[in-house]
Amino acid sequence: MTKLYIVIPCYNEETVLLETASRLREKMHSLMSEGIITDDSKVILVDDGSSDKTWELITKIHYSDRMFSGCKLTRNQGHQNALLSGLDCARGKCDAVISMDADLQDDINVIDEFVKKYEEGNEIVYGVRSSRISDTFFKCKTAGIFYKLMKLMGAEIVTNHADYRLLGSRALEGLFEFNEVNLFLRGIVPLVGYKSAKVYYDRKERYAGESKYPLKKMISFALDGITSFSIKPIKMITSLGVIFVLVSGIMLLYSLISYFTGHSVSGWASLITSIWLLGGLQLLAIGIIGEYIGKVFLETKKRPRYIIEEFLDDDIQN
Ligand code: UDP
Ligand code: MG
Repeated sequence: MTKLYIVIPCYNEETVLLETASRLREKMHSLMSEGIITDDSKVILVDDGSSDKTWELITKIHYSDRMFSGCKLTRNQGHQNALLSGLDCARGKCDAVISMDADLQDDINVIDEFVKKYEEGNEIVYGVRSSRISDTFFKCKTAGIFYKLMKLMGAEIVTNHADYRLLGSRALEGLFEFNEVNLFLRGIVPLVGYKSAKVYYDRKERYAGESKYPLKKMISFALDGITSFSIKPIKMITSLGVIFVLVSGIMLLYSLISYFTGHSVSGWASLITSIWLLGGLQLLAIGIIGEYIGKVFLETKKRPRYIIEEFLDDDIQN
C-alpha cells in the first residue's frame, strides 16, 4: 500500500474548490477501500495568495475532513512555486506525491494507474494528455510550438505533459537538490532521473472559473522555461558573431577584387568591410559576455521561492 499525498496549487479557485474537494474525497475513499492507498493519505491545498475566498474555503474543507490539509503563501508566487511549496510540505511524510491542478482538467480516475506504475518501481510517472480537444485552436498551436522550441533549446521535456505527475519520495528528495529560483518543474523533473513511466489521459474542460494563464502569463512562462533552462540563445549570438566575422572576411576579399578590377567607388571597400567586421566583433563580444552572465544569472538569484504564512496542520509542517 502506498501512502499518497496529493498537492494542489490554488489561485482564485473559489468556484471550483468545493467540487474538486468532493470529487477527490470520493476518489480517495474508494482508493483506500480498495487497499491501494493507506488511510492516512492526504490532499494538500496550497493557497497561492488568492484574493477571493479560496483560503476560507480551504480552511472549511480542512475542518470538515482532516484528509484535506492546506497552507497559505504570503502572496501570489505563481503556479510553479505554489506547487513546490506543497511538495515541500509533503516531503518526508509520504511514499509518493501527485501534483495536479485545482480545476479538474486532469482526470482523477488515472490516479490508480499512477500508483500502479509507482508500485512497479517507477519513481516518476508523467501524466500525458492524449488529446487536446478541450483546448482552443490557439492554445493547441502555441503549446505545440512551445514544446518544439524547448526541445530545440536542449531541454528534455515530455511533450504534452503539464504538471500532472507522480513523484516517489526519492524523486521528491532529488527535486529539492535543485535550488534554482527560476523554477520550471517540467524541465527539472526529467533531470532528476530515476526510472519513469507515462500515463495517458484526456484533458477535460475547466470545471468552472477562468484559466489563470492568460496569453501574457503564457508567454512569460514559455520564455522563463527557455531562458532558465538553457543558455542556447546566448550561444546562438556567439555563433552569429562568428558567422559575421567570416562574412566580413569574404566581403574583404570581394571588395579587394572589385577594387583591383576597378569596379568600385573609392572608399566603399574599406567602409563595407569595417561595417561587417565591427558588427561581427561586437556581436561576438556581447555573446561571450552574455555567456558568462548567463552562467552567473543561473546561479546567483538565491531568493526564497515562496514564504508560507500559515499551515492548517502541524504534520505538513517541515
Ligand atoms: N495557479 C496558481 N498560481 C498562479 C496561477 C495558477 O497556483 O499564479 C494554479 C491554478 O489555481 C490551477 C493551476 O495553477 O490549479 C493551473 O492553472 P490554470 O488551470 O489556470 O492553467 P491552464 O490549465 O489554463 O493552463
Ligand atoms: Mg487548468
